Amino acid sequence: RFKAWVIEKGEAGQNLSFTDFDEADLMDGDVTVRVTHSCLNYKDGLAMTGASPVVRRFPMIPGIDFSGVVEASDHPEYKPGDAVVLTGWGVGETHLGAYAEKARVKGDWLVPLPAGLSPEQTMAIGTAGYTAMLCLMALDAHGVTPKDGPALVTGASGGVGSVAVALLARAGWHVMASTGRAGEADYLKSLGAAEIVDREELGKPGRPLGKERWAAAIDAVGSTTLANVLAQTKADGAVAACGLAQGMDLPTSVAPFILRGVSLLGINSVTTPQAKRRAAWARLAAELDLDKLAAMTNRIGLAEVGGLGPDILSGKVRGRTVVEVG
Ligand code: NAP
Repeated sequence: RFKAWVIEKGEAGQNLSFTDFDEADLMDGDVTVRVTHSCLNYKDGLAMTGASPVVRRFPMIPGIDFSGVVEASDHPEYKPGDAVVLTGWGVGETHLGAYAEKARVKGDWLVPLPAGLSPEQTMAIGTAGYTAMLCLMALDAHGVTPKDGPALVTGASGGVGSVAVALLARAGWHVMASTGRAGEADYLKSLGAAEIVDREELGKPGRPLGKERWAAAIDAVGSTTLANVLAQTKADGAVAACGLAQGMDLPTSVAPFILRGVSLLGINSVTTPQAKRRAAWARLAAELDLDKLAAMTNRIGLAEVGGLGPDILSGKVRGRTVVEVG
């Protein structure tokens, strides 16, 4: 038996507890991992509180990503002792997840620990930071560059946002950071933001087209904010959309697309194919300033993570939170 957070569903709703879990009750998989680190993502908040039905199987161990050491493997690529990283694939949603001392998963879901990063650093980055890199890769593939104008990041003080600010600044962009937390202006500037935008400005309904302000954007917020981001994107610019912190809706018009040639690039980190996953981790290892990563990261123990679901959903968590498991 090992320590785990477990979500159970009863008639009165769901219940989250820190308990002992029987290894025999782990789900099928060809690699068993001793989890050393996990982290806190927005989706973990949704899972642990039940605010949105992301958990599709009960009981569920929440936690959508981990790093750890292989304990047993029937997968040709992994052997006991190998350091591995997992993000996505429904772990913590449909497959028993990361907030536990052990996980059993498909080896095809894993990536080897990226060269140049420690297991703890991979979870300081976590799904949020890895998704920020997927957004940057999508903007790069679109062909938009710092010469075209500034890049906006929404939800900038959050996990995706903080990593996105650091990555874009490192890539030479003039970064505009949108936040609802005026008190985090110095924090965002230390990560590389050149300007702070008050999120109120973007959060309320605006016109179908506005003044052209940025050539690129990474949006973690969705809803009215994303509509305004699109309406203020420069001609032929691009917006990578990955989140829904404001809402799932998108009250926009076709005006930015057909009158300015703006592109909306969708980002899904859960089922990214292996080659792209490894490319994203290699770029993170090469391009993310590890001092900035340390500055945006807090550490907690496994026993504490269960209490943080409401905090991340209400935008109270700054940057990234590593969960020390082993
Ligand atoms: P997070 O740390 O909570 O960051 C979200 C940030 O959004 C908050 O820190 C806050 O930033 C802002 N925000 C919160 N509530 C808001 C509201 N009502 N209106 C406007 N802004 C609000 O969460 P995260 O882990 O970085 O994830 C961010 C989003 O990306 C989530 O929606 C998550 O589900 C999504 N995501 C998607 C993928 C994918 O595969 N597509 C992967 C990872 C994450 P400020 O305080 O600075 O304003």
